[in-house]
Amino acid sequence: MGAKRAVVVGGGIGGLTAAAALRVRGWDVTVCERAASLDPVGSGLSLGPNALRALDAVGVGRAARELAAIDGVSGIRRSDGRWLVRADVTAPMMERYDDLAVIALRAELVDLLLSRLPEDTVRTSTTVTAVDPETGAVTTSAGELAADLVVAADGVRSIIRKTLFPGHPEARYSGSTTWRFVIQEPGRGFRTTESWGRGDVFGIMPLSGKRIYCYASAVAPAGQTFEDERAELLRRFSGWHSPIPELIGAADPEKILHNDVYWSADPLPAYHVGRVAFLGDAAHAMSPNLGQGACQAIEDAVVLASLADRTDGLARYTAARLPRTRMVVQNSHRASRLVGLRSPLATALRDTLMWGVGRFGSAAVVRQTAPIFEWSPPRLSAG
Ligand SMILES: Cc1cc2nc3c(=O)[nH]c(=O)nc-3n(C[C@H](O)[C@H](O)[C@H](O)COP(=O)(O)OP(=O)(O)OC[C@H]3O[C@@H](n4cnc5c(N)ncnc54)[C@H](O)[C@@H]3O)c2cc1C
Repeated sequence: MGAKRAVVVGGGIGGLTAAAALRVRGWDVTVCERAASLDPVGSGLSLGPNALRALDAVGVGRAARELAAIDGVSGIRRSDGRWLVRADVTAPMMERYDDLAVIALRAELVDLLLSRLPEDTVRTSTTVTAVDPETGAVTTSAGELAADLVVAADGVRSIIRKTLFPGHPEARYSGSTTWRFVIQEPGRGFRTTESWGRGDVFGIMPLSGKRIYCYASAVAPAGQTFEDERAELLRRFSGWHSPIPELIGAADPEKILHNDVYWSADPLPAYHVGRVAFLGDAAHAMSPNLGQGACQAIEDAVVLASLADRTDGLARYTAARLPRTRMVVQNSHRASRLVGLRSPLATALRDTLMWGVGRFGSAAVVRQTAPIFEWSPPRLSAG
């Protein structure tokens, strides 16, 4: 009997990890991506030890750690620069997880995953328009495909989710909009920090190769765009502590990404229907505040690949993934609400609380991450 065939819908981090993980298990995989190329958006991605362990199972964990900048020192500041939490988490992270969270460029992670796939695996400019969960027939803009397994990794606006769960509520606007950009380091050392104001946030994450990934978020109505996104960022953050205004000033206005954040407020009843399995944002979009959207997609992919060739594999996949991802979605939403507070009294209370947490030391800070980071992937290969 030949290898089983999987069709993966979507060539994002979730879809590509699923393809790589299924290949490890001997599946014949085709990825359909509607975009003309896989040129990923220019932004950074933090990968926790949970995701790094899952990437180990696919064979790219070590390379992912090597291409990332590792910064054990991190903290939270107020908009005037006062530190609320400042901790060197290197020792407690190594003690607890034998690993650190790393920050990689999204494009480089995509290239790593592609390096695990035969060249003809990904079909770009190929939009999936219909899937039959009973037969595994997949209709695309470039013809029909047959599959034993269909992986719906088609993102937060998943057309497959809409078709197979008709009437299920769409992902909901979180109330926050985000900006992201990468710049070359303008000549001095930067640490990983996040600064909190009243509804606004600015994050700085050093990448390898003297680059810096910056992100910002703001409580704002959905759907706003600005002719000059950098001017809008400067308007919001020009009074914030150094180096935030300087970093915004150094950004290429053409390369600033601006996205509203949507999240899966209403959980799906299952992450599978017939031969179709949902993963990543198609199954459980979340606010980015814990940096776990892609990490959970990576976990999904490895768990799915470990179970997919069993007769009850997809039901087990739902059972393994739904409660965990639900917990992460909810925690991310809580974190989003915390940083989205706007009243002077609420933000003062929040800042005092964070300052108090910081006083307990770096081990206490790391302990907060345990429910998410303490996770181990199933083995995919005997090796
Ligand atoms: C500001 C911000 C910061 C973030 N930071 C982090 C972070 O630090 N760490 C982290 O882990 N996560 C982070 N995330 C979340 C992370 O980006 C997402 O959770 C992750 O990229 C989702 O991956 P995915 O593969 O599920 O979906 P997507 O990346 O959305 O990929 C879906 C793909 O499917 C394709 N597609 C859609 N429909 C079809 C179709 N019908 N046919 C064919 N192809 C189709 C799309 O073109 C797309 O390429 C952040 C998100 C935001 C907004």
